Amino acid sequence: MSAATTEQDLTSLDWTRRLIAIDTTSRNSNLELIDLVAEELRRLGVEPLLVPNEEGTKANLFATFPAADGSTEGGIVISGHTDVVPVDGQAWSTDPFTAEVRDGKLYGRGAADMKSYIGAALTLLPRIAEADLTTPVHLALSYDEEIGCVGAGRLVEELERRGIRPEFCIVGEPTSMRVIAEHKSVNVFRATFTGVASHSSLTPDGVNAIHHASRFAVAFADMVDGWRQDGPFDEGYVVPFSTGGVNLVQGGIASNTVPDRCVIEFEFRSVAALDADEVTARVRSTLDEIDARMREENPDAGVALEVVGQVPGLFTEAGSPVLALGAELGGLPSEEKVTYGTEAGQFDGIGIGTIVCGPGDIAQAHTADEWIELEQIAACEAFFDALFARVTA
Ligand SMILES: [Zn+2]
Repeated sequence: MSAATTEQDLTSLDWTRRLIAIDTTSRNSNLELIDLVAEELRRLGVEPLLVPNEEGTKANLFATFPAADGSTEGGIVISGHTDVVPVDGQAWSTDPFTAEVRDGKLYGRGAADMKSYIGAALTLLPRIAEADLTTPVHLALSYDEEIGCVGAGRLVEELERRGIRPEFCIVGEPTSMRVIAEHKSVNVFRATFTGVASHSSLTPDGVNAIHHASRFAVAFADMVDGWRQDGPFDEGYVVPFSTGGVNLVQGGIASNTVPDRCVIEFEFRSVAALDADEVTARVRSTLDEIDARMREENPDAGVALEVVGQVPGLFTEAGSPVLALGAELGGLPSEEKVTYGTEAGQFDGIGIGTIVCGPGDIAQAHTADEWIELEQIAACEAFFDALFARVTA
């Protein structure tokens, strides 16, 4: 490594501090962070691919360090999301966007979820850039993970479109460096029931949006109860069946007025043996029936469904080569399947063998005074050292 390069290279902790200092709460732009990483990549001789959102206010970043023979085929993706959850209403002891080290821990928003992983990855890159790689290494950074894995959806579409097909992907969500092979799908919907208002003494003149929303809520609750009672079951999860619920209702203005509007938000999370597409189709057909019934009452009434977000589950099978890779790099074995969704299902969905493995504990993610143990950052560095050995062997 040249002296000039060494001078400019930062440690994992330096990088993580810089990343935490950029407030990438999902409602904000992430471009300052993306620009910073893009600049570093250009310094290392790699031009990143940027995949912006529709408004151009946020972007995914994808970069490839080719093998020594110039090949960009296959290879390993190091994947992280750039956004963090809000600190609104949380009681922080210190500024969440000024990282602080105390008692062997690094404090700051994103310390665990998941800027330490990205910081460690950025520290690895100068070595990757100078090495003769036998297999390519890719970096993937996304936006809007925390509001439903929105950015990664666009990113994998773009990779597919360009025929970019890495072999493996390691999503560095905080798992305390355990290798996680499965998580449920997450599917979030909003349904807007449009009725017709009238005085509550003249119900035949109105269409009661809340009543129709309730019909759907009951049907959905029955479906959800069925999963709990009859499965399919998967004992690898803390909650060993698919779950769901109508979790938000808004509607009505007064007890003497037939409500002309009711908005509900509902979600379901499915295990591998339950087809999320089939459930989505059942949701649609149930709503279609209600829509028809509402229109019969009054042609101006009806229901509209919006898919807020659908994150596919990660269902990496035992014996998959990516599990062997995770173990080879020092990822800790784990039987546990996690309850939270990640972008891993999206990478897996385009045929990339994917695991979740990263530093820090999910229990610290999203909390006030979010922290990560420095030991976890060191464990991640060791993981990346092993990755370096693997891609240069
Ligand atoms: Zn995360």
